[in-house]
Amino acid sequence: MTKTETPASAILHRDTRFVPKKAIGGKGSYIFLEDGTKFLDSTGGAAVSCLGHSHEQVNQAIKDQVDQISYCHSAFFGTQAAEDLAQFLVDSTGGKMSKLYVVSSGSEAVEAALKLARQYFLELPTPQPQRTRFIARLPSYHGITLGALAAGGHVLRRQPFEPLLAKNTSHVSPCYAYRGKWDDESDADYVARLAAELDAEFQRVGPENVCAFIAEPVVGAALGCVPAVSGYFPAMKAVCEKYDALFILDEVMSGMGRCGTLHAWEQEGIVPDIQTIGKALGGGYAPVSGVLIGDSIVQTMDKGTGVFRHGQTYQGHPVSCAAALAVQKTIQEESLLANVRAMGAYLEKQLRQRLGAHPYVGDIRGKGLFWGIELVKDKATKEPFDPKTHLSFLVQEKGLHPEHAISLYGCVGTVDGVRGDHIVLAPPYNVSAGEIDLIVDRTARVLADVFAGLKN
Ligand code: PMP
Repeated sequence: MTKTETPASAILHRDTRFVPKKAIGGKGSYIFLEDGTKFLDSTGGAAVSCLGHSHEQVNQAIKDQVDQISYCHSAFFGTQAAEDLAQFLVDSTGGKMSKLYVVSSGSEAVEAALKLARQYFLELPTPQPQRTRFIARLPSYHGITLGALAAGGHVLRRQPFEPLLAKNTSHVSPCYAYRGKWDDESDADYVARLAAELDAEFQRVGPENVCAFIAEPVVGAALGCVPAVSGYFPAMKAVCEKYDALFILDEVMSGMGRCGTLHAWEQEGIVPDIQTIGKALGGGYAPVSGVLIGDSIVQTMDKGTGVFRHGQTYQGHPVSCAAALAVQKTIQEESLLANVRAMGAYLEKQLRQRLGAHPYVGDIRGKGLFWGIELVKDKATKEPFDPKTHLSFLVQEKGLHPEHAISLYGCVGTVDGVRGDHIVLAPPYNVSAGEIDLIVDRTARVLADVFAGLKN
């Protein structure tokens, strides 16, 4: 289907000129389309589908929950499903986090985290109501609601809505070694430079006004799977601690096993004060996200009003909680984190072998089963393609053609003309080596097709 042959649809699609084909089924790493295409879901939607499609254990847990109770408002009643999920997740942190707040989407989780941080400072024995500022990183992505968008620096999605509602958020650079680190600079010096930048930002806005710093462990949608260099997170946390500000880690995309450990911070040598989770939490089986909250915040709230001034209709939805718990237990029972690490290493090897020398592949980076490929016009200068080429769109669209039938997600980032377009690969945690071969092969073919088209 081309853009000019768009069928009628009553849905407001992302791109109203492009109505996507209908998916009528799914199994494992594949989605079946109504036109008969067997589509390789190599990005798990957007790093969501961690068990693939139609996992029987999860399907059954959802059915059992619906049969028991499908909904009740959390202001009136609790459910066993929500209790069990919270206990499971708190335990999974080894007690480093002590409560869970459950919502539906990642954006809502980020909103809740930002508000929780603000309220924490109001609940202290000596309240600090002036701590209203947030420091985030540009580019980064924290969600689509206006608050999360003000924090997140995804250029494409921010631009149309400027000026954003939250005027009290400012930004520092992310840890982006490919473009940010100087040629002769050591990791330690790069980290020290970024920590100094954050420190200077605290000083600029007044440290007594800063509520929290928020960052993604691996920059996902805005940069294409960019992990930080070693030592970065401890250095950033130290700056926050120096000024008694909170540290929020947004693990919506890179957490819940995607990077090879259940929580991405386990590999970074830090524990955040507040952690957002989503996507692979429910694996796409239900809309579910959450906020894990550290004990000092919980204690402060308990000794204060004891009331988080927030709350929503679908908070702690029992079907979502049951689905998420079944997903998490399956990851544990099937030892899938070990598979994420093993298949992640295999994916990296295959990507480097097949695409490392590609004339337009500037960088291949990632962790676990979360890999990004940055495309550039000139490998030596790292000059990106002209944004008018819409390269990321061309790659994504070409992947959707039945002869390729592969999802290549997140291919944005070039709109400012500074960064290259990128592709995100995030297959399910139970992906096989054969499927990885297929993913790499199809990705390479899509790129060959797209670049051949550009030359003509
Ligand atoms: N935070 C991060 C790090 C994300 O990657 C995303 C989504 N890509 C969000 C928040 C927002 O999640 P959602 O789309 O579920 O609202």
